[in-house]
Amino acid sequence: MSLLNQPATEMLVWRNRFAALGDAFFTRLSPTALPAPYWISRNTSLMTELGWPEPGLSSPDALLAFSGCAIPEGAAPLASVYSGHQFGQWAGRLGDGRALSLGDVESAQGHQEIQLKGAGPTPYSRRGDGRAVLRSSIREYLCSEAMHGLGIASTRALCLTGSAQPVRREEVETAAVLTRVAPSFVRFGHFEHFAANQYLSELKTLADHVISLHLSECTARAALGEHQGNVYAVLLQVVTERTAQMLAQWQAVGFCHGVMNTDNMSILGLTLDYGPFQFLDGFNPRHICNHSDNQGRYAYHRQPNVAYWNLYCLGQALASLINDQELTLAVLESYKTHFPQALDRAMALKLGLPIASETISEINSTRELTDSLLAILAREQVDYTIFWRRLSQAVAAPIDAADASGVAWNSVRDLFLDRSAWELWQQRYLQQLALHDQVKAGRSMLAHNPKYVLRNHLAEIAICQAKLGDFSEVQTLLTLLQSPFDEHPEHEAYAQLPPAWANSIEISCSS
Ligand code: AMP
Ligand code: MG
Repeated sequence: MSLLNQPATEMLVWRNRFAALGDAFFTRLSPTALPAPYWISRNTSLMTELGWPEPGLSSPDALLAFSGCAIPEGAAPLASVYSGHQFGQWAGRLGDGRALSLGDVESAQGHQEIQLKGAGPTPYSRRGDGRAVLRSSIREYLCSEAMHGLGIASTRALCLTGSAQPVRREEVETAAVLTRVAPSFVRFGHFEHFAANQYLSELKTLADHVISLHLSECTARAALGEHQGNVYAVLLQVVTERTAQMLAQWQAVGFCHGVMNTDNMSILGLTLDYGPFQFLDGFNPRHICNHSDNQGRYAYHRQPNVAYWNLYCLGQALASLINDQELTLAVLESYKTHFPQALDRAMALKLGLPIASETISEINSTRELTDSLLAILAREQVDYTIFWRRLSQAVAAPIDAADASGVAWNSVRDLFLDRSAWELWQQRYLQQLALHDQVKAGRSMLAHNPKYVLRNHLAEIAICQAKLGDFSEVQTLLTLLQSPFDEHPEHEAYAQLPPAWANSIEISCSS
């Protein structure tokens, strides 16, 4: 394994603060090189956001570094150890089986850890090969950026490299390495690991690390007396709030994660580990996007409760640090307030109604309006994204055309077979909307209801072309999904209903 010392990666300032925690937290090891790596996609806008220097991703040494073929000077690659609950069962030790952290570097957005996913086997690979296939890497690459574009906290994706190296899954595919970036990749499962093994001093070290480097608001809030100044209770509180917020945004945009195991839950409330995820096409609350999820544990409508269950596991892991069972339970209980509040807020934004309602009756009427709408959408499995975008367009239409019989409203009505149910709802909605500035509401709705989401079939088309060596569709989707609220009239086709074959796409955990 060669060391790189050339402009692009040399100019990164490495800090490697996770590596400073000590051997109990990780195993140091080098990535396993792939033969003849090539670029699939580079996310130059993330590069710019991070303020990283040119030539950045365009140099040959960047290709070597981000395909795991060479280690940038100053990096200290490692695979971290974690455990977790998978599909409701304790799974014991898991760990980074195919992710390798190079270390963390300074950026214009604060410190960022750089991780290579698919860079070869680690001591935590169990029976896996440590590789990621092109197909799933493209999905994670695009979806990370799509989520960010939607305003939903997520790990980011810097670039994607590939190689002809064969990788065996249900069939033989080829390997790819995804370079992902986040302030931290610490998961609930990291805490569960140290708690389950009674490594209590390491558990405290990890909690202190997360608090001091990533969630400093915990210290500030504890200093103000929150939860009797118990900083670990405040840590659980902050994670609960961030998770509630993330879940509300997932539900509002119709995102199904697919594998909400506790090892896939970020301590920073970032959407993490994109596998069999899906954005809903037709609105079916019971939709299961993971073909391997036979019981539907992670069905769309169950996600908020699963998040609570996962937080409970985190609470158990932190219990010895919080050292107050009643307090721990009280913090967890707050999810039952934070999640509905965050969801009410997200749905009010989608509806163009005020978010900070003055009265309980106003909150209830918005909630009732939302629930009755979702019931109609579910009954007819109306396309979720298209519905909200058309509704936004109808509300945003010039006032003289914005009456209930205008063209824009007709295009919403056309989505329903049961016109009378729709018209009844529409009447009630317009009554509420009339209490506010409709033009302003319409403008805001267009900024909260995306025109473009990464539907399965769009990813599938990009994957099929990439398998033939054409990566242009990956790049097109990347650009489009980074600004999903803009019209992009030249890409209208990407906002249409999915083709019939989209229903037959089966995505499982295998990646
Ligand atoms: P996931 O379901 O992708 O979140 O993975 C669960 C666990 O399996 C994690 O510890 C992963 O690192 C590990 N894993 C998944 N796929 C592979 C693979 N191809 N090789 C090695 N480990 C893997
Ligand atoms: Mg995972």
